[in-house]
Amino acid sequence: MFNHLTKPRWLAVVLPVLSVVALVLVGRWLNATKVGGQAPAEPFRIAGNFYYVGASDVAAFLITGSEGHVVLDGGYPTTARLIIASIAKLGFDIKDVKVLVNSEPHPDHGGGLTVLQQASGAQLWASDASAGSLATGGDDPDGILPLRALIWIGVLGYPRPRVDHRFKDGDTIRVGPIALTAHITGGHTRGCTSWSFPVRDGDRTLNVVSACDLGVLATSRYPEQGADRERSIRVLRDLPVDIWVTCHARWWGRYRKFVASATATNPVEPFIDPDGYRAYLDAAEAELRQGRVH
Ligand SMILES: [Zn+2]
Repeated sequence: MFNHLTKPRWLAVVLPVLSVVALVLVGRWLNATKVGGQAPAEPFRIAGNFYYVGASDVAAFLITGSEGHVVLDGGYPTTARLIIASIAKLGFDIKDVKVLVNSEPHPDHGGGLTVLQQASGAQLWASDASAGSLATGGDDPDGILPLRALIWIGVLGYPRPRVDHRFKDGDTIRVGPIALTAHITGGHTRGCTSWSFPVRDGDRTLNVVSACDLGVLATSRYPEQGADRERSIRVLRDLPVDIWVTCHARWWGRYRKFVASATATNPVEPFIDPDGYRAYLDAAEAELRQGRVH
């Protein structure tokens, strides 16, 4: 469509468009850092050795064990300070965190990993696809060019964590008695990882699933995305679930369950929610069928 324009004219058309896109995206990102779920939140025990240590919506979890702890997700760079304070408030030491794992490398979940890694000395594990993005401070090869360019020039992006280990789909990561199984459930990003692990509550064992975001962003598309989402929904439907969570706490009802837990006879009971999990997957499947993009 620009055939009739000379090169400088072509640039004169394209550059302003890209600038507007970039400004919109920066605005969105800045908003997200201030109000997008980053308000401080009370940390709490979900069940057994499984705790919430994230912000009001940007989630992070602590799984404690006799031979060291695991933290799942890092929030934004600025969320990491809240996470560290929440771990201390629960009576644990960030220095005892030995392993960091992540759901996906977007800045709201991967951004704080470097701060957590520096404070703890923990080893970071990632899927191959996530490792690439994490190691470049959030550059998503499937991201749209203006967004990537802003990361390259340092306007977006985050401090680069050191990725120590890579896992394959179905691998189990162990820290003493803790055993987390990785399910690479791509769609939102290629390497997005859901996690499943058992948690003891008294004399019963509960199955926990941390499920990936299954929505698609207009700013991050790739050819196999539809097929990945189909498969991911299928994989997640097959996992046994008592307690489920996601990287955005409002999706699994953090606050509602936290409040209900405070007055429940067994404080774990409000977190047992296989119906909510199925509803989450049903909604993801409906979005996929409708072709909805965020
Ligand atoms: Zn994301």
